[in-house]
Parts: sequence; structure tokens; C-alpha cells
Amino acid sequence: MTFASAPHILAIAAGIQPAYDKDVTPTPPACGRDIPWRRGEAAGFGLPRVRVETPAPPVLGKEPVHRKCADFRFDPDSMCESGFLFFGEPMTLHDKFGRQITDLRVSVTDRCNFRCVYCRSADPENYREHDEILSWNELERLARIFADLGIQKMRITGGEPLVRDGVEVYLRKLTELRVPDISMTTNGHLLAERVPGLISAGLHRINVSLDSLDPIKFEKITRTRSYDSVMRGIDAVQATALAPAKINAVLVRGFNEDEVEAFAAFARERGVIMRFIEFMPLDADRHWSRDLMVPAEEVYRRIHAQWPLVQIPHAQSETARKYRFADGAPGEIGLIAPVTQPFCGHCSRIRLTADGKVRTCLFSKDDHDLRGMLRNGASDADIEERIRALVDQKEKGHRINEAGFVPPSRTMVFIGG
Ligand code: SF4
Repeated sequence: MTFASAPHILAIAAGIQPAYDKDVTPTPPACGRDIPWRRGEAAGFGLPRVRVETPAPPVLGKEPVHRKCADFRFDPDSMCESGFLFFGEPMTLHDKFGRQITDLRVSVTDRCNFRCVYCRSADPENYREHDEILSWNELERLARIFADLGIQKMRITGGEPLVRDGVEVYLRKLTELRVPDISMTTNGHLLAERVPGLISAGLHRINVSLDSLDPIKFEKITRTRSYDSVMRGIDAVQATALAPAKINAVLVRGFNEDEVEAFAAFARERGVIMRFIEFMPLDADRHWSRDLMVPAEEVYRRIHAQWPLVQIPHAQSETARKYRFADGAPGEIGLIAPVTQPFCGHCSRIRLTADGKVRTCLFSKDDHDLRGMLRNGASDADIEERIRALVDQKEKGHRINEAGFVPPSRTMVFIGG
């Protein structure tokens, strides 16, 4: 995910090189494998769960086991792969506004192979020490705990997730945990060679950040010569079951808003889902201002004028408003308008940072540490309790449009998209 700081961007647009040295809707409970149960202990619903030592249950058809489980209350013979008989209500995470939390964004590293002028300030490395970053075992344990709490979607982010060795192994662990929806956000530089491994590890969807189709502008903003490798990465995805790739572009007035039609044409040519994200106040150098943001409504109007769009129905908790081209051309347009059309009322997301902090909102003022609990002998139940308590206190929404709004202390590269 990318966020640009105005002065840097305007400076780039003007060809000046910067010193490189910058709203609540209760959600119905989910179903299926989404119905995690506390492993190995009575579900606390007054009805003990009994482990039934039986021969291996028949193969429960092709559909994922979890769907089978959903019907168990009416078919006591059906057993989930774990061999438990279930009675009672599924475990889910809800906040005090009744929103069910089903999506977890997991940052697996704060390191990145790009040096985008807007995301990371000019001074090179304010990375965390290695031992501050969660190990893969710790990330796997937390993924299992979150899956048990009803998390259905896990998005792997960074920094840049593909720079950390072992990310495919971690994806395979998430697949073994039967997380129904596993996705990743990447800058695409290392993608082309990694696509086969990501697919066999169980990745379902991929987002590639791309803020310009102009190689010169791309190079200036990322401070890398990676335009071609990113394009190869996108093409590699388009040739596989991971297609269609989602392409994320943050528009900043005076820099890349002139490329709206070019991005839409790119979607039509390559059959990708082109997503335009409103610029949010999360940039490292704190240069965000409302007039640098390009409202989603403007993007819609400009594309619709050239290629009429038809809205695609979407789930309430989805961040993007989705459109297809009325003329049947391939590709889709997604508009993500957190500033002008906030979607906090249906928010289903929480985040885990690479150094083991839970952020209940992208704009949280506070981080909540789980790393200490992991490293000081806390049990899974202790950590679950902590997560439940944190989610219960999840913010109602960001306050960007309110007087006195102060951006969070953590910037995007350390939150992780
Ligand atoms: S700003 Fe916070 S509450 Fe709103 S959608 Fe994003 S994460 Fe959810």
C-alpha cells in the first residue's frame, strides 16, 4: 500500500529531486470452518465437547470441511475433521458496536526493497531490530489463535512481505489452518519468479501496489528501477489461477491524478482489477492535506465519461465499490474512499504489526502488545481473552473528517496496509 507526501510528489512532478537523503452495523454470525472451537477444552457452553475416537471420517466431499460443520446441529453424525462433536454457539469476534471482526491484516516484516518517498522518510533505515520482529512460529501461533476466534480472511503485508524468507512456508501453515481466504499485498518487484510457489502454498488473491504507469515517474517515487519487474509480476499473475490481480494506486493531485484514464485503460487491456485508493493521512512526512486527495467520485465520473461503468454488488464490509465496464471489456474498477465515503460502520478488520502489536483500526492512537505475552508464557486462552477485550474496544471509525483529527503516530510502513 502506498501513500504519497505532497511536497515530495509535487517536487518530483516539477522535476526537482527531493533530498535523498519522508461510522455501526451488527453483522450476522459467520458459518463453516469459520466456526472455530476452543481446542481440547470444554466450550464453556455448559456442554462438554467429546473427542470421538472413530475410524477416519469419510472424505467430506470436495467442499471445504468447514461448510460441512455448519450443518452439524441438524446432523449429529456429521463431524468436522478434528473429530469433535459440537454443541452450542460458534466463536466469533465482535466489537461493542456489534461489528463482527473477520479480517486480519498481518504484517510479517517492516523491511522493504522499495524506498517510496511518501511511505518511508528520506533517512534510510529506522527498521526494528530482528528480535523485535515476530518469529514465524510466533506468527503461526497467533494465526491459529485468530483463526480459532473466527477470523476468515488473512492478508499478508509488510513493508514488503516477499523480502522475508519463509513467507511461502507461512502461507502453507495458514492453508493447513484452513483459513478460508488468504491474500497478499506486494510491490510486485519479486513477484514474477514467486508466483508458482505462492500458488502452491495456498495463496488465493494478490494485490500489487502501482502508483504510476509512467516508468520515469515510477522510478522517481519508488527510488528503484523496478518498473519492468513489477509489470512482469503482474503478467505472471494474470497467467495463473491467481488472476485477476488487484492493482492498488493511491492518487495524489498534482502527481498521478492525470493517469486515471490510463489506469482504466490498463485494466481493460490486461483484465486486472484497477483499484483507486484515496490518499490518507498516514504518510511518513505528515504532508497529507485534503486538497491533495482525489475523491473517488471524481475518479468515477472521469472513467464513466469515457467507458460507462456498471456497479457490481459487494459485501458491506468490503472496502471497495466495484464496477465493470458496460461494454463488456475485461477488467474491473474499484474505488476505495476512506476519506470521502468512510466505510467504518461495516468495518470487519484488525491488524497485527510485524513487531507483535494489535491495531484495532488503521488510525488507532494506540498499539496493543501481544509479543510480550507470547514470550512470557501466556497461554492461548490468555491471548484469546486479550484479543477479545481489545476488539471489544475497537474504535468506531477514523476521525479524519472531524475537527482536531490527529494522524496516528505509526506510519503505513510500520502498520502494513
Ligand atoms: S479507518 Fe478504522 S474503522 Fe474505519 S474502516 Fe479503516 S480500520 Fe475500519
